[in-house]
Amino acid sequence: MTYLGSCLCGRVQFKAEGPAIDVHYCHCRMCQRATGSAFAILAWFDLGDVLWTHGRPKILRSSSTAQRGFCADCGTPLLLHYDGEHRLGLMVGTFERAADLVPLRHASLESRLPWTDISENADKDFIQPAAAVIAGSMSDTCCRLPGPQPTSSEIS
Ligand SMILES: [Zn+2]
Ligand SMILES: [Zn+2]
Repeated sequence: MTYLGSCLCGRVQFKAEGPAIDVHYCHCRMCQRATGSAFAILAWFDLGDVLWTHGRPKILRSSSTAQRGFCADCGTPLLLHYDGEHRLGLMVGTFERAADLVPLRHASLESRLPWTDISENADKDFIQPAAAVIAGSMSDTCCRLPGPQPTSSEIS
């Protein structure tokens, strides 16, 4: 199935070939800042299955391990990409059929804002190592795949 999405102003549009590899909430501080909200909801697709059909996201190196992308015109957060990974996390709210991308688990619950209701059926047992959260030095480790990763790669 093909999913279509865009930023708020429509300058950046994309197409992603599903099904998504993974869909989950992330409550880490980086995702809270990047979205300006209590959590992100990310849908991961193979890099080769995502096509920018109009415009391009502006890419920000948000930490030593990852880049995030957003619309340079309207600021909508669009993506998270870990160096060396062959998958791209897209923000679920930017999809036309966002309701079809059902998050199945919660990541980084240690940073969850206490008033965030997570009483749904998603898997709450998935908690990232607390080492990912170091006060004052945030890093994008929340949703990274386990195992060794190549040191750097730029998404194009
Ligand atoms: Zn935009
Ligand atoms: Zn996160």
